[in-house]
Amino acid sequence: MYKEFGIQENLINLANTVENKICKEIKKVDENCIYNSLKVLKAFQNNNISDIHFNSTTGYGYSDIGRDAIERIFAEVLGAEEALVRSQFISGTHALTVALFALLRPNDTLLSITGKPYDTLDEVIGIVKNKSSLQSFGVKYEQIDLKENDFDYEKIIQRVKKGNIKVIEIQRSKGYSTRESLCINKLEKVIHMIKNINKEIIIMVDNCYCEFVENKTPLEVGADVIVGSLIKNLGGGIAPNGAYIAGRKNLIELCAERLTVPGQGKEVGPTLGINKSFLQGIYMAPSVVASSIKTAIFASCILEELGYKVSPKYNENRADIVQNIEFGSAEKLIQYCKGIQMGSAIDSKSIPEPWDMPGYNDKVIMASGSFTQGSSIEISCDGPIRQPYIAYMQGGLTYEYGKIAVLIAINNIYEK
Ligand SMILES: *Cc1c(COP(=O)(O)O)cnc(C)c1O
Repeated sequence: MYKEFGIQENLINLANTVENKICKEIKKVDENCIYNSLKVLKAFQNNNISDIHFNSTTGYGYSDIGRDAIERIFAEVLGAEEALVRSQFISGTHALTVALFALLRPNDTLLSITGKPYDTLDEVIGIVKNKSSLQSFGVKYEQIDLKENDFDYEKIIQRVKKGNIKVIEIQRSKGYSTRESLCINKLEKVIHMIKNINKEIIIMVDNCYCEFVENKTPLEVGADVIVGSLIKNLGGGIAPNGAYIAGRKNLIELCAERLTVPGQGKEVGPTLGINKSFLQGIYMAPSVVASSIKTAIFASCILEELGYKVSPKYNENRADIVQNIEFGSAEKLIQYCKGIQMGSAIDSKSIPEPWDMPGYNDKVIMASGSFTQGSSIEISCDGPIRQPYIAYMQGGLTYEYGKIAVLIAINNIYEK
């Protein structure tokens, strides 16, 4: 069957060698998957999930027992007092925005301690001018950059001691950068230090791409609020949209009243038929995240064997599902992304081209043949066309489909 895709014999042999080499890493991923599966199953059973929870409400969405049960399951799995899990969140960025606007008031200060936050938050915060930004409401923003792939502990302590910080934002995943993603141990250390100086500061974590990769959540090491997207890890490739915010009860109430209405909060919000997908999604999520990590480990190892610089390496710790591959040439980056598209089940005949995306200085190429538009828990790959030509690859609903897409993409580079 490999021949049907034009994949060459020597590449298949290399893939076999690589799979032998990565078996210890794969076993660790499986162990973590069992742990997370136990966690999810326990939450389903503790909440007596039954097919009545698949029903849903319309209109205002009062008394939606499915929605309420889903939020209790997310809370339990994430180690939160409460969670807000809604399809009314149109993206991860929207959930982050709701959380920021819910927690900050005029004259408050937001401090990012992981450098500039994810690109889509530029206009939300006001880093790029916008008449609806936090800044336009008088919320101040400061940032402390990372230092050698870790927090700049000294600067953070100094700034926190000076006072007047309401919310600290931490982004775990690297986004479009070459820094390393931050593992939970580093988070624990920095949160501990901050809380020792001032317990009142709200620690908010952008948890996108990191759920179920490690066996602890940021809330379990002292964070107050975490935010993520359901078309990434916790939607398990099944949730068709949505996002979540989880954490301390009083803070989740503020977020709910910002998403809906002051005085109504979590009590409203119709689910319009989505409950079963959210439940199936979180149920599948441990295994789907494991498949994504395995795909990343396989890609990392085989591309390193072929002479490319990769990050993380196949045997390095991972905090998220993203794999960087440095191609060193625009042509190779483009052919790799085109190959990932060719290896998808959806839109495999589409040919992605680099284009001028709003908000970016360079052209960007994006490959995504997904069941859900923009879903990046499904195999997807993109890269800005600039030195040193790095592809950011993530996802894979099954390891097998992930591996096949990687092989087709590599084959495409060498064929071209
Ligand atoms: C994907 C992502 C977001 C935003 O998610 P969207 O759903 O695309 O709006 C924010 N932060 C990080 C680190 C992400 O990976």
